[in-house]
Amino acid sequence: LGDKFKKPEGAWECDTCLVQNKAEDIKCVACTAAKPGASAGPSSSSSSSSAPLFGLADKFKQPEGSWECDVCCVQNKAADVKCVACQAVKPGANVEA
Ligand SMILES: [Zn+2]
Ligand SMILES: [Zn+2]
Repeated sequence: LGDKFKKPEGAWECDTCLVQNKAEDIKCVACTAAKPGASAGPSSSSSSSSAPLFGLADKFKQPEGSWECDVCCVQNKAADVKCVACQAVKPGANVEA
């Protein structure tokens, strides 16, 4: 078929960080945002406006030691030595050559 951007069936792109996730992922592997269109919660066809979570006072507070991937700009946890999204090695991490 010559589709040059062949991706796994059902793969989806995160609205938040634009990382591509697999079909079986119901959350973004990078930022854990819920898959768009994924029906979470009780199955009710009536559109109940779910309020966004604005309870967090400091919404951009970063966990200590967290780092941002140079390649895909996803924020990773301190414990991660590789980017959870693109597997790039953490900048400054001591990796055996
Ligand atoms: Zn994401
Ligand atoms: Zn990355």
